[in-house]
Amino acid sequence: MTETPDLAGLQRRLADFAAARDWGQYHTPKNLVTALGVEAAELAEIFQWLTPEQSARVMDDEGAAHRVRDEVADVLAYLLQFCAVLGVDPLAALSDKIDRNEGRFPVT
Ligand SMILES: [Mg+2]
Repeated sequence: MTETPDLAGLQRRLADFAAARDWGQYHTPKNLVTALGVEAAELAEIFQWLTPEQSARVMDDEGAAHRVRDEVADVLAYLLQFCAVLGVDPLAALSDKIDRNEGRFPVT
């Protein structure tokens, strides 16, 4: 069974991949956040004309499921690279946000 890689290891692999190709010069925060938006739109495009019921079953179709996983990877890759160049810890940012939302939206 393949072990799920950790976030820091994936960020290091992404950085090494870009550095080996001298792509770091293109990885400005502006370029990375723009690419992130494009990839998020590619993910949304898969669902664009589906009914709610079809969208809930999208992973039942092997081809569609592959496209979803591929675009999820693209979105996460650009988000992690964006965080790396700005020194944002994405897990800490998410944890802080959940803490704030738990305070903002108490269970009634
Ligand atoms: Mg893509």
